[in-house]
Amino acid sequence: MTHEQTENLKRILLKIRRPTLLVVGLGLFDVSLLLARNSMLEGLWFALLGGVLIGPVMHYLLGKVLIPLGFGRVWCGWACWTAAILDQLPYRQSPNHLGPRWGNGRYVVFGVSLLLVLGLWFGLGYRAGVLGHDAVYWFVLSNLLYWSVGVALAVLLKDNRAFCKYVCPNPTIFKQTARFSLLKVAGDAQACQECVSQACIPMCPMDIRIPEYIKAGQRVLSTECIQCQACVCVCPPNALRLSAGFDVGGPDFLQEQAFVEEWRSRLRSRKKPVKP
Ligand code: SF4
Ligand code: SF4
Repeated sequence: MTHEQTENLKRILLKIRRPTLLVVGLGLFDVSLLLARNSMLEGLWFALLGGVLIGPVMHYLLGKVLIPLGFGRVWCGWACWTAAILDQLPYRQSPNHLGPRWGNGRYVVFGVSLLLVLGLWFGLGYRAGVLGHDAVYWFVLSNLLYWSVGVALAVLLKDNRAFCKYVCPNPTIFKQTARFSLLKVAGDAQACQECVSQACIPMCPMDIRIPEYIKAGQRVLSTECIQCQACVCVCPPNALRLSAGFDVGGPDFLQEQAFVEEWRSRLRSRKKPVKP
């Protein structure tokens, strides 16, 4: 493939991700609705408690456990019906990450979801949250809640993916499986070291400090990566690529406020004209 063809392909990839996510995400939402299944986390708890091994169990087993082992959080980048809406909002470049502490909100939501279902199941004897009419109500209402909170957070924090970073309970599972993903972003350490623009940094919707991994000769080991490929598409020296390999993940290097400020001032100082 020639250099020009590769560049065209990257431009197309960058343009089609959000429309693809919208079509795939809402398509999968419709499938769940038509099959009258509650494919949300509460549906999974009801299904496991009731021994119903279709519907939500298959959805979580495939989308959140098996597929991430090969393709990381491709669900989040290309297929999630919550993000399908959130990613159409205008806040594509987040100002900065609030910090890993805030990411723990996802574990809280995960716990609350489990406790809610356990309370309904054992406390009230309610068991109809997996399939049928009740499942449709659960599915629609919980999605309306997710979308409302997601849009509110996006507007408040000027960040389309704030819900994914701080609230969505699904990464509690993804982060265990996606660390082993065979596909991850890799790169050329030398080219990354010499790169002046660092164009990948503002483009990463999950606020990952991509160059930190690449300069250390690693693949992007953060389990925050949603495999959107934006960094690969915008990298000026073409230092990044999608690669297949085996590793066990690593720490999340995130663009917190101090990092973003330092990165901005570094860029500004590099742009200053050299005095004769
Ligand atoms: S983090 Fe949650 S809301 Fe965001 S894309 Fe992944 S599953 Fe969807
Ligand atoms: S590291 Fe690259 S592929 Fe992963 S989320 Fe960030 S921009 Fe997307």
